[in-house]
Amino acid sequence: MANNFSQLARKSKANSPIEKVPKEQKRPPSLEIYKLGDDVLRENAKRISKVDNSIRILAKEMLQSMYAAKGIGLAAPQIGIKKELLVIDVNFENASADPLILINPEITNYGTTLNSYEEGCLSIPGVYLNVIRPSTIKLRFRDEMGRPRKMKADGLLARCIQHEMDHLKGVLFVDRVTSKEDLNKELMKEGFHQKDVMPIN
Ligand SMILES: [Zn+2]
Repeated sequence: MANNFSQLARKSKANSPIEKVPKEQKRPPSLEIYKLGDDVLRENAKRISKVDNSIRILAKEMLQSMYAAKGIGLAAPQIGIKKELLVIDVNFENASADPLILINPEITNYGTTLNSYEEGCLSIPGVYLNVIRPSTIKLRFRDEMGRPRKMKADGLLARCIQHEMDHLKGVLFVDRVTSKEDLNKELMKEGFHQKDVMPIN
């Protein structure tokens, strides 16, 4: 019996959801976040076939690093892992709001309204530039327990999801900046190089 119980306990632990990650992280990010110019940021991520404990551990580490770096989103390719996994928290100032963990996200619908808003990226620190994107989206994804989910997003959340999903295709927000003059100035100011930008238009 004791043996059965310990097996059960182990099993339930292996399938348990991610425990809450504190949003106030005192230590620097535990994971290295790659920067503009690193080739790994330009590769395609692969779909996650099985959402298991290793994925949940990875998501938890990504959340810790994202909060430590004061970001609102982090994609696995930014830490050199080619998997379709994103963590997002646009309510970082609200300690009790749950973050979003998106696995294999797919946008199923883009709204027709576009808007322009200033973006930044943990992989291009100090650079903030306006990017035009659809203001609303619908998407489907799997959550950290592997359950299929659907959601609608608008505002900052819709923007953040689109920005992070770009990382899964090796696209960075600077690739979408239309004002080349602003782009150059802003990159140079932070010691980045325009040759590392791959414009999509
Ligand atoms: Zn980014």
